[in-house]
Amino acid sequence: MSVYEQSALATKHALPSYLNADEIGPWGTYLQQVDRVTPYLGSLARWVETLKRPKRILVVDVPIEMDDGTIAHFEGYRVQHNLSRGPGKGGVRFHQDVTLSEVMALSAWMSIKNAAVNVPYGGAKGGIRVDPRKLSKGELERLTRRYTSEIGLLIGPTKDIPAPDVNTNAQIMSWMMDTYSMNTGATATGVVTGKPIDLGGSLGRVEATGRGVFTVGVEAAKLIGLPVQGARVAVQGFGNVGGTAGRLFVEAGAQLVAVQDHTGSIYNPLGMDAAALQEHVREHGGVKGFPGAEAIDTDAFWSVDCDILIPAALEGQINKDNAERIKARMVIEGANGPTTPEADDILHDKGVLVLPDVIANAGGVTVSYFEWVQDFSSFFWSEDEINARLVRIMQEAFAAVWQVAQDNKVSLRTATFIVACKRILHAREARGLYP
Ligand code: NAD
Repeated sequence: MSVYEQSALATKHALPSYLNADEIGPWGTYLQQVDRVTPYLGSLARWVETLKRPKRILVVDVPIEMDDGTIAHFEGYRVQHNLSRGPGKGGVRFHQDVTLSEVMALSAWMSIKNAAVNVPYGGAKGGIRVDPRKLSKGELERLTRRYTSEIGLLIGPTKDIPAPDVNTNAQIMSWMMDTYSMNTGATATGVVTGKPIDLGGSLGRVEATGRGVFTVGVEAAKLIGLPVQGARVAVQGFGNVGGTAGRLFVEAGAQLVAVQDHTGSIYNPLGMDAAALQEHVREHGGVKGFPGAEAIDTDAFWSVDCDILIPAALEGQINKDNAERIKARMVIEGANGPTTPEADDILHDKGVLVLPDVIANAGGVTVSYFEWVQDFSSFFWSEDEINARLVRIMQEAFAAVWQVAQDNKVSLRTATFIVACKRILHAREARGLYP
């Protein structure tokens, strides 16, 4: 039996005892991605099991007093997938559908992403199963602080550095940083990234993920002969990532023809004013009711005539039910895990180029890395300097992945996994097993 066959067999039998096969969810998607890359790892395949199990999982109870005097309990997680290349790094998500499987998968994708752009981090992720829109500001602060205290065992500027993700932002990072600092007795700006500028945040961080999505999109468009000027772009999720990426494409001459978020789907074949739409979302909480477009069905969004589709909301949005209808020439994954493996194959067969999350949305963690470096040195860079460094890293990482894809005749996702898994497993092998 080859090393690859052994490893594939191990995946089937080595489900962690806390997950049963029916609820394997996004973690199952990730395991399939690792299996696809294993034949390309050569002798490093010996270490591949390392990638198939998180190093550490912490599940915490987060009790808080609600404004009406009752006590509510929420379930929180922090998963450190791999720390071979450096401290854990990855966001914290507040969402009612967060599960352990999801946080495990997101932490693993962070390991891959950090290695793909070669920032010196392992992968981690956290989350709380809560709909934060139903909490008052005071309840949200108490939730964040208690969660931070509970995961305080694991996090720290040299151990594991959280950041914003879905429904978390600079304010939540400030509360996390303050709670950690109070508990440890020293102001520790480097414990989280995505902070406000006044607290050691980095210029350019808010827009970094969207800027990275745009940067790799432009590079790939050049390679497939798709002019950005006049390209029709559809975006799912018009928050931090989707809103910024959509606006940058419009500023580069593209037309934003369709947008979907949790409030509805809108369409204008002549293009929308992306900055005005961002303003509308800030004011009204979603795209619904935007005067510059007409409302369309949730399902119709996926069949819209477009050249570039940017999923920038949640996992599993492009799946076997809608992949066949997608008309775009290129999908840029702003979200983490938006395409299921089945949909990946359908898009591949249709000749749609997929720029995978693990490279396309790595701009956020890249500028988080800059923020962390600036915090340690207490020396801050200009926004132009940050954007220039970000663009250079994204362009170089994307060019390397493109080359590996061409050389091995594999998808960009598998190519990114090849680059990243080799880096992680080289580090694993060099460190050896302790004790
Ligand atoms: P956000 O909270 O700013 O925006 C999320 C968007 O998704 C909102 O527009 C929301 O309306 C939409 N959405 C939520 N549920 C939806 C549904 N059921 N259908 C359609 N739209 C829905 O979050 P964000 O920071 O922009 O993150 C979006 C994605 O990008 C996530 O997958 C996240 O993990 C990923 N990501 C974010 C960053 C970052 O720096 N913020 C970095 C890398 C990856």
